[in-house]
Amino acid sequence: MSSIRVRFAPSPTGYLHIGGLRTALYVYLFARKHSGQLVLRIEDTDRTRFVPDAEADILKGLKWSGIDYDEGPDVGGKYGPYRQSERTELYHKYAAQLVENGEAYYAFDSAEDLERMRERTGTGYNAKTRASMNNSLVLSSDEVNRLLEDPSVEHVIRLKVPENQKVTFDDVCRGTIEFATEEIDDQVLIKSDGLPTYHMANVVDDHLMEISHIIRGEDWLPSTPKHVLLYRALGWETPVLAHLPLILSPTGGKLSKRKAEKSGIHVFVSDYIDAGYEPEAVVNFLALLGWNPGTEQEIFTMSELVEAFSLDRVGTSGVQFDKNKLDWINEQVIHGLQPSDVLDRLEGTFNVEGYDRSYHERVIEILLPRAGKLMEIPGQADYFFVDPSDYDEAVVAKRWKADSAKFVRAFSEKVHAVDRWEGERLHGVMEGLTKDLEVGFGKLILPVRLAITGLGSGPGIFDVMELIGKDTTLRRLGNIIERLG
Ligand code: GLU
Repeated sequence: MSSIRVRFAPSPTGYLHIGGLRTALYVYLFARKHSGQLVLRIEDTDRTRFVPDAEADILKGLKWSGIDYDEGPDVGGKYGPYRQSERTELYHKYAAQLVENGEAYYAFDSAEDLERMRERTGTGYNAKTRASMNNSLVLSSDEVNRLLEDPSVEHVIRLKVPENQKVTFDDVCRGTIEFATEEIDDQVLIKSDGLPTYHMANVVDDHLMEISHIIRGEDWLPSTPKHVLLYRALGWETPVLAHLPLILSPTGGKLSKRKAEKSGIHVFVSDYIDAGYEPEAVVNFLALLGWNPGTEQEIFTMSELVEAFSLDRVGTSGVQFDKNKLDWINEQVIHGLQPSDVLDRLEGTFNVEGYDRSYHERVIEILLPRAGKLMEIPGQADYFFVDPSDYDEAVVAKRWKADSAKFVRAFSEKVHAVDRWEGERLHGVMEGLTKDLEVGFGKLILPVRLAITGLGSGPGIFDVMELIGKDTTLRRLGNIIERLG
């Protein structure tokens, strides 16, 4: 088995974001490409921002997208549990070890103490200020033990960030990155509620779960030096790092919820599901949002993506969200689907009583090339099942001329005699008739289309006539003459 192990580690503080899905996708593609293992880990240590149904939404979004994982809260695995809230003891164990080794310390400062220190020094809790605070570096061990046992005193565990050091790490997407430890405060590792911070839990779990590559959004880059320090302090090797470029709104800047909404863009994966996008299209679109295949190919299946994906073709600069591109990809994807697959995807929303499956499939075959989303099809299909109850007024006003009834009647008489009822033959009949009558094709086809569908435009009208059959066609041709004269 490959030693590649990667994880997608969402926090259930909100529903699955489209940017989160892109991260999950890149992690997935990398794992599958290298025959590695993909872990889903739920980072639920921030109880104040916890959203109860967020985890279910995340799982649903991943499943919908076709991103499956080898280990996770709902599938198990030998590195579990996969929810951080179920791993608290582990974080305490390593935090205690850090304290023991002098890499971390207990701090008993109240919120007011911290506020006063910030006002006084203008900096954070660090090598310069920690000596003036209430912590186990300063207090006697008796005092520390007393405070730890006093239930009325809250405490945290902080990382003792070394002074005047450089933290350097290599990022697969962005090269070598350097931070100075002066920029980093003594991070809280265990909060006063006993839960670990993101940094602590993330590092401990990535290590214990034997994660080989950390692939995540660029917004986590500022956390990375803190993690690197923690790996060092714990004596562990830092996994390979790769930070993905930000997704930008069409108006520039990070794609925040507010900005996205202003540009008519959904931020949650569930909104894309509700809006009728196909999972393959969203996946294809997200794959290209930050990764460049290096070829002209734009439409990919998931397995083609797995084949083509590599982290070194992931860019560093932010990428703009282009909704038109997504819509275009969705069209390409659906136009390549088989009618029976489309019918299944429409999940019973397209099921007209009295018509069998194969009739529905024929309707789909005719309408699909003009559809942008599958969900449009049922709403466009009425005239395949019932005679038009009225005719588009604007089309009537513009296109129904004094001689239209005459042309429709002439066409009706001709098709009456057709016995092999096929679209192509009907087309031939109309062509012949335009020659006999010495008129343009439009003079005939537009009133006929209006008669059959009630509309001024639509799919190939001869295909429609073939499907609805001879009797229905003749009846509708008669109806329009009667009603519009
Ligand atoms: N829990 C973090 C998030 O919500 C994970 C970041 C990481 O992958 O380290 O995205």
